[in-house]
Amino acid sequence: MRCEVLAVGTELLLGQVVDTNSAWIGEQLAAAGIDSHHQTKVGDNQARIVACIRAALARSDAVVCCGGLGPTKDDITREAIAEVLGVPLELDEEVAVRIEEMFSSRGRTMPVNNMRQAEVPKGAAVIPQVAGTAPGLICRLGDRSIYAVPGVPHEMREMVARAVIPDLVAQSGQAATIFSRTLRTWGLAESALDELLGPHMAELDRAHADGQPAPTIAFLASGIEGIKVRITAKAPTQDEAESLVAKVEAEVRALLGPAIFGADEVNMEAAVGALLASRGLSLGVAESLTGGLVGSRLTVVPGASEWFRGSLVVYASAAKRSLLGVSEGPVVREPAAIQMAVGAARVLDADVGLALTGVAGPSEQDGEPIGTVWVGLAGDAIGGPSAHRFSIGSRGSREQVRQIATISALDLLRRRLLGD
Ligand code: ATP
Ligand code: MG
Repeated sequence: MRCEVLAVGTELLLGQVVDTNSAWIGEQLAAAGIDSHHQTKVGDNQARIVACIRAALARSDAVVCCGGLGPTKDDITREAIAEVLGVPLELDEEVAVRIEEMFSSRGRTMPVNNMRQAEVPKGAAVIPQVAGTAPGLICRLGDRSIYAVPGVPHEMREMVARAVIPDLVAQSGQAATIFSRTLRTWGLAESALDELLGPHMAELDRAHADGQPAPTIAFLASGIEGIKVRITAKAPTQDEAESLVAKVEAEVRALLGPAIFGADEVNMEAAVGALLASRGLSLGVAESLTGGLVGSRLTVVPGASEWFRGSLVVYASAAKRSLLGVSEGPVVREPAAIQMAVGAARVLDADVGLALTGVAGPSEQDGEPIGTVWVGLAGDAIGGPSAHRFSIGSRGSREQVRQIATISALDLLRRRLLGD
């Protein structure tokens, strides 16, 4: 089974929007074991969209078109697909009713333009919309398939996962379901992960080659979100796929230990929050170089009020001294980091204190190079006051230093909460 991706939108060609949709769809196709040899971008021009769809179907069994399903005049993916199929557009009553309901439930009147979204190529199956107002499409041309999904990333992702991948898998004739689990890691380089998991991956590859049902393991470097380790299994039933993944997941967890901070949607702040909540601890933060990034990330977690007291942004050395009792002397140092953490816990009346002080750049400070970050911790529950020095200077810009400092500090706290 071969499937291509066609991203539609002039904004993609002009560089105003980065085509992240194709990358994401490509990842999903690979995980589902569907070959994908081409990704194309095309502007909002009907003749060119038609030519791209035809070229894709000449090489592959299917094409997923994303974007251009909206209500405006330049959204013409529907028209282009109808032209390729050689059929007219027809009003789909069910879709029309759903779109009208969507507007009336929000107490708004529907712009006439939106009815365009209820027009579908004759004979096409509609993928009902959940998130937005544009429905998706599944169209057949002989033994080939054309899928259309919206361009808005979260709408696109929901629809591809729910309808497109399952349909492609069904069309491929492999009676199989796909299940995958993503383990999120922080603190290990990709090469280190490879070294730890390499023998295991080779074994799985051999099993695969022998035709045994074995999951695959893939790494996804995700910048400041760390490196993801994705385990994917294909099996005749969901239960079988899940149990294949569960077995490998246990092995991977045993090998990587506390480097794994979460699975699937659980990010670092959610992991830290869950640990604090489970131990009934509250957290107070003091931030210098991150200027509130730690507090900002923590407050994204639903229910953060249960364990997050607050974060003090103490940027100037004088503020560190007057608000947190940091003593005279350099502030990018171990004692200052510890005093900040102790001070944050005291001032915010928290069980645990976390503090960050460092040099984000553009120039050095206190004789310390750019990227030097001291993270202070305080609280009896995590073994008393301590501090850890990170050197992240060579890894990037001022903003990257701030972002890496944020996740590194959260990771250090997480490990202490685990007793690591
Ligand atoms: P809508 O109903 O919102 O108009 P649509 O299907 O017409 O949806 P587009 O108009 O093509 O989608 O795109 C809507 C927005 O989605 C774009 O402005 C852009 O921000 C984002 N988007 C579109 N295509 C992509 C893409 N390939 N990668 C990332 N983002 C995209
Ligand atoms: Mg649009």
